[in-house]
Amino acid sequence: MRAEPIMRGLRKAAERPNLYDAAHLSDTWEAMTTELKPPLSHEDAYIEAYRCLLCGGPHNPAPCTVACPADVDVAGFMEAIINGDPVTSAGIIASTNPLGGTCARVCPTEELCEGACVLNLQGQRPVDIARLQRYAMDQAEKVGDLLVPDKAPATGARVAVVGGGPAGMAAASRLAELGHGVEVFDAYSNTGGLVRAAIAPYRQVFDPLPTETSRLLELGVKFHLGAELTPEQVATLRDRYSAVILAIGMGEDSATGTPGSGLPGVWNSLPFIAAIKSGNFPEVGEHVVVVGGGNTAMDVAREAVRLGAAKVTVVYRRTREEMPAFWVEYEEAVEEGVEFAWLTNPIRYEGRGYLERVVCQRMELSEPDQSGRRRPVPLQGEELVVEAGTVVEAIGQRPRTSLLARVEGATFDSGRLVIDPFSGRIGTSAFFGAGDAVNGGATVVEAVRLGKIAAEGAHDFILERSSR
Ligand SMILES: Cc1cc2nc3c(=O)[nH]c(=O)nc-3n(C[C@H](O)[C@H](O)[C@H](O)COP(=O)(O)OP(=O)(O)OC[C@H]3O[C@@H](n4cnc5c(N)ncnc54)[C@H](O)[C@@H]3O)c2cc1C
Repeated sequence: MRAEPIMRGLRKAAERPNLYDAAHLSDTWEAMTTELKPPLSHEDAYIEAYRCLLCGGPHNPAPCTVACPADVDVAGFMEAIINGDPVTSAGIIASTNPLGGTCARVCPTEELCEGACVLNLQGQRPVDIARLQRYAMDQAEKVGDLLVPDKAPATGARVAVVGGGPAGMAAASRLAELGHGVEVFDAYSNTGGLVRAAIAPYRQVFDPLPTETSRLLELGVKFHLGAELTPEQVATLRDRYSAVILAIGMGEDSATGTPGSGLPGVWNSLPFIAAIKSGNFPEVGEHVVVVGGGNTAMDVAREAVRLGAAKVTVVYRRTREEMPAFWVEYEEAVEEGVEFAWLTNPIRYEGRGYLERVVCQRMELSEPDQSGRRRPVPLQGEELVVEAGTVVEAIGQRPRTSLLARVEGATFDSGRLVIDPFSGRIGTSAFFGAGDAVNGGATVVEAVRLGKIAAEGAHDFILERSSR
């Protein structure tokens, strides 16, 4: 179902004589934005939903719902589609996931709901839950239904949310539903955080973020965009708000510190992707080398293929077994022609005025380290030189520790903001943490889950304070 549109997009990219010629830029954009999970027609949606066994019940949720961090009632929304009522279906989704349209496009469903679908056990293809969720949300959007839930009576309390990405949006949605006055602060001029800035355009460019934001506005949430708060401003929010949610995500790319990384042609992953998402495509060499083994590295490699690189190689210092990227991401990258060099680590970038080659060190695996994965160690004397015009380092992001330096009780463990897992609360303070800042970087739907927990935690905290 999915392979043909991808291949069409890739063929277009490969056929281009001059990628940066203005006449071909629209082709590049088309290749880059050809969706991996295109929308379903009414007929296909009905037929696909009909495959669902509607597992579970009030006291035994279906395996797909159990696997969904946002607790979406999959069987409930499938039944509404079967009954010809996609807007009701969308309402069921939105009632537990305010980013239901985004998640339908970006969730690693193979690892979550679709991976848990009982049809897998019968040797059948799982129900295409992601595309059915997208279908329902799209239909609601088409009829202009923002799916705004009922609001509890106003409590009079005001809550500040720092960060308008998925965690902040989910927290703001829930807090507004509970009757609190909510104000979201974000450094970007738009909502969505990394969804807008980093998620691969062949999954999602911007839509449906504007609709998801409109829903929050309808709920009464106020946004202060383009408002980058200082550590001092974050710490003193407590003086003006009953509670503060910190949904600040992770910071810039971690750097490998490889000598020569100042050469033109050497990129960090986030600026590389941000350039692509804004349509200012980075000019790539014939051979693009991507450093890293996570999902971001897979995205960058697949984006480089779409940019028209003749060859894309991911270099990773361990092996496939230790690589943190999801299997499906790896397999799809291989399907699109990405090559992998295992047990290989760049030690120098070289070139006269521009990157020309990457000098790599061969590695071997020794004893397991703190992460439980076997530690890569250099194989002395085993170097190889890889000709490449572009290298993109994608080895993870740095935590924003300094932003929270003045927040009462804020501590980090291995770069993750420490919270109470049941309430999101930071120590005994009025601050609550959510999203990537807490888990070190995961998925949109995990950020939604943590945003909801922090909102409930802040709500309980406010009620408790007001009943004293
Ligand atoms: C390259 C890449 C690809 C990804 N692809 C996927 C995918 O396909 N599917 C998926 O589910 N997940 C994906 N993810 C992960 C997903 O994007 C994140 O897990 C999710 O966005 C985390 O949400 P968040 O709200 O915690 O943080 P973010 O989305 O990072 O949002 C944090 C917000 O806080 C704001 N902020 C930070 N500091 C300040 C400050 N001082 N003042 C004001 N505002 C501030 C930022 O501007 C930002 O908008 C990807 C991540 C990356 C890096």
